[in-house]
Amino acid sequence: MSFTELGLSDEILRAVTEQGYSTPTPIQSQAIPAVLRGGDLLAGAQTGTGKTAGFTLPILQRLASNKRHTGNGRKPIRALILTPTRELAAQVEESVRVYGKYLKLSSTVIFGGVGIHPQIKLLSQGVDILVATPGRLLDHMQQGTVDLTHIEILVLDEADRMLDMGFIRDIRRVLAALPPQRQNLLFSATFSDEIKALADGLLNAPAMIEVARRNSTVEVIAQKVHPVDRNRKHPLLSHLIKAHQWSQVLVFTRTKHGANKLVEQLGKDGITALAIHGNKSQTARTRALAEFKNGSLQVLVATDIAARGIDIDQLPHVVNYDLPNVPEDYVHRIGRTGRAGAAGEAVSLVCVDEHDMLKGIEKLIKRSIPQEVITGFEPDPNARPQPIQLRSGNTGGRTQSKQSKPANGNARPASSPKSGAPQKPASKPRSGVPSGRQRFSGRGKELT
Ligand code: AMP
Repeated sequence: MSFTELGLSDEILRAVTEQGYSTPTPIQSQAIPAVLRGGDLLAGAQTGTGKTAGFTLPILQRLASNKRHTGNGRKPIRALILTPTRELAAQVEESVRVYGKYLKLSSTVIFGGVGIHPQIKLLSQGVDILVATPGRLLDHMQQGTVDLTHIEILVLDEADRMLDMGFIRDIRRVLAALPPQRQNLLFSATFSDEIKALADGLLNAPAMIEVARRNSTVEVIAQKVHPVDRNRKHPLLSHLIKAHQWSQVLVFTRTKHGANKLVEQLGKDGITALAIHGNKSQTARTRALAEFKNGSLQVLVATDIAARGIDIDQLPHVVNYDLPNVPEDYVHRIGRTGRAGAAGEAVSLVCVDEHDMLKGIEKLIKRSIPQEVITGFEPDPNARPQPIQLRSGNTGGRTQSKQSKPANGNARPASSPKSGAPQKPASKPRSGVPSGRQRFSGRGKELT
C-alpha cells in the first residue's frame, strides 16, 4: 500500500513525500479512506503509530476539496481538534501546517499557560482548522472570542488522556456549542467504560479501527533493567551516559521535584540537562524541547504527563530513572524510542522499592525484562523496600505506600495518583473521574 492509493490530492502527497514518508502506517492506511468517506471514526491508536497524519491528511483533503467559504467576512472555523496537552496541541498544529503547506487552508493553536490576547487576534483573523486544549478553548467560548457554529469535523485526540485529566465536562460543554451535523473522529489508546460512553453519545455508526497496541510492538525496543540502590541511581545514570556517550537521552522521573533535582545533579557531572514538567513555564518547556530536538541539549528530564505526545523521531535512549506507578505509562514512555520501526533502547534503573512496580509492568507487557547489574553499582542485597513518594514533596505532597496492583492495560487503578497531577488535595472525587486525579475547580486543568 502506498500513499498514492489512498485518494489524497497531489498537494497533500507532495507534502507527505517531502516528509520522507513512503508507506502509510497501519492506522493511516485504514483511517485515511474512512475519514475521506465522511463518516464518524473510532480509532484505537497511540502516539507513535502515525495517528496524527491519519486524521490530519484526510481532514485537509476534505476541507480543501469542499470549499464552503465564499463571502468576504471572517472565515469560519471548519475543523476543531482537541488534545489533552499543550505540547500535543502544538505538535498537531505543526503537522497541520506541514501537511497542508501546499493548500490554502489556515490553522492556529490555542492552549493555556500563555497570553490569551495573541490568540484572540489570530482567531479574529479567521482560521479553517483550530487545534486546542479544552480549558483554553472554553475560556475563548466564554469570552465570545471563538465561533464554533460552523465546525464540520471534530477530532478528540488522545480522548482517554483528556478524560484522565478531568476534561470530560469541558468536552461536553464544547460539544454542546457545535452544530449537530458534523463528522466526529475519536482517537484513544485505551477503551475504558468512560470512553465507550463518550463514544456512544458522540459517534454515529462509526468506522472502527484498532491498530496494534504499543505493548504488542515493544518488541522493537531493547529493554533492560539495571538493579541499583535508590541513592545510587544518579551516579549510575551519569556513568551510563558517559560510558556509552549517549547524546540524546529522555529521562523520566516520577515527580517534578525529582526532575529538578536530577537536572541539578547531572549539571554538576558536566551533563547538560533540562526538565519539563507542569511547574515550568510554557516558554521554558518549548525551549527545552527545541534544544533537545536539535541536539544541543543532551538530556531532557520529564514527568509522564509533560512528556505525553512529545514527538521526536527515533529517539535512541529512554531512561526510566523512576519506574512509573501506572504500568501503562511504562509502555507510553518507552514508546518514545523505536518509533515507526526504528530500533531504540529503554533502560530502567530499579531499586528495591520498585520491585512490585516492575512486576506490574512485566505482567502488562507479558514478558520479563532482562536485568543487568553494572559493576560498581551492585545493589545491597539486604536493602529493605521503603514506601515510594508519588508526588513532589515541596507542596504538601504525601508519601504513599507503593502501588502493587498491576493495571489490566485498559484502565488505570483508581487509587494511583499520577506524577504531574495537581498537588492540591481534591475535595472529593467526582463520579467518572478516577479519584487519584484531582481538579482545582469545575474545570479540567492542563497538567503538562
Ligand atoms: P504520531 O503517532 O502521529 O505521533 O506519529 C509518530 C511519528 O511517526 C511522527 O514522528 C511522524 O512524523 C512519524 N510518521 C507518521 N507517519 C509516518 C509514515 N507514514 N512513515 C514514517 N514515519 C511516519
